[in-house]
Amino acid sequence: MANEKNLKVTFCSGAGTVTGANFLLEGNGKKFLIDCGLIQGEKFVDDLNWEKFSYDAVTIDILFITHSHIDHIGRIPKLINEGFCGKIISTVPTKEITEIMFADMAHLLSRDVEHNLAEIYSAENIKKASSLWETLEYGQKLNIDHGFQFSFKDAGHILGSGMLEIIYNNRKIVFTGDLGNSPSPLLPNTEVIKNADYMIMESCYGDRNHEKREERKKKLEEVIKNNYNRKGTLIIPTFSLERTQELLYEINSLVENNIIPRMPIFLDSPLSIKLTDVYLKYDKYFNETAKKIIATGDKLFDFPGLKETLETDESKAILEVPPPKIIIAGSGMSNGGRILHHEKNYLPDENNTILLTGYQAVGTLGRLIEDGAKKIHIMGEEITVRANIAKIIGYSTHKDSDHLVGFVEKTANTLKKVFVTMGEPKSSMFLAQKLNDSFGVNAYTPMAGESVTIEC
Ligand SMILES: [Zn+2]
Repeated sequence: MANEKNLKVTFCSGAGTVTGANFLLEGNGKKFLIDCGLIQGEKFVDDLNWEKFSYDAVTIDILFITHSHIDHIGRIPKLINEGFCGKIISTVPTKEITEIMFADMAHLLSRDVEHNLAEIYSAENIKKASSLWETLEYGQKLNIDHGFQFSFKDAGHILGSGMLEIIYNNRKIVFTGDLGNSPSPLLPNTEVIKNADYMIMESCYGDRNHEKREERKKKLEEVIKNNYNRKGTLIIPTFSLERTQELLYEINSLVENNIIPRMPIFLDSPLSIKLTDVYLKYDKYFNETAKKIIATGDKLFDFPGLKETLETDESKAILEVPPPKIIIAGSGMSNGGRILHHEKNYLPDENNTILLTGYQAVGTLGRLIEDGAKKIHIMGEEITVRANIAKIIGYSTHKDSDHLVGFVEKTANTLKKVFVTMGEPKSSMFLAQKLNDSFGVNAYTPMAGESVTIEC
């Protein structure tokens, strides 16, 4: 017999794939959503995003947001457009970063007439999202009627990222969101979860391990030095959020300790520039090492040679600057943004280098470059790739396979079931198997659209 206290979780999207996190938790007369992200894959924005949600947006009480990556927040305006009028709850930085991300998305997406995106990402919907939004500090508890208690623990993934802990009928259910690649240069380590009964976890790198952090800094140093010696241009497609700030932090240390020679370094991404300002504002959420460096008077994200190019004219003028030089620009998977112009200009020359700093989704231009394609198409033009291709996968903001396993281990003795989501199928299945083999944990990889019961 089904217990009427039982909860139901539906993996509306974000299962069997990395992106599009959107989970529905129902029970005892309440409906909650955890994340409402964009589905991204071959296209920056998949057509699937614009199909109607499988639930009635009007009936949702609260939407919890684990963090402000597009694949966790990108469909909030659509939810509003379909009539959502509940509360949105996250940490303080998540709310502020989301507002910047929405402005950027509205600019990018409103040209899509076919899917009516100008209406979905309207100023009105974005403003309404902000007006419904409330914040919680890490550890602060939110009790609501029908016996639910919610709180965020620091996930250490990006600034403001949280794991959502839910206590209901003496059961603890944890939605991990994305889990940080601790130790991170800037953020505290992922908090430990104990005594969890059920966990809905990410598995982006469920089947792979990263390079060590020391190795990645060494590799960054080598790539920069090699490029300098070749008198080339080093282009770094980067993710505006967290990756860029980590990269600036590491280059700051290489420059100020005179480990690399001085040269012009351009931060050519308006979004990255704005987000870096938010990081500076919320340095109270940094780890102790970063706070100590700030206390000495060092500006973590600023150093000799760095130039922020906010305006288009400034961006275009970079081409006139003689090499050696470094250009950091978005997007991280080369599926849009100013990096495309730089790739067009610099990839055909064997003296130049492109440095990939993160996961490149199947079907993106970044993935083609990573896989060694010699001919690629950028903005309708065929480009021959002769530049050197370097990769540092240690820059991921996600835990790798061994660390995901280590994270679950801390609460393996109490877990009744783990749902392995937010990963490509082979990655999720590998992790589920490993959790089962290592700790006898009942780990399951749900499919998108599937519903499961949480026994309470
Ligand atoms: Zn994320």
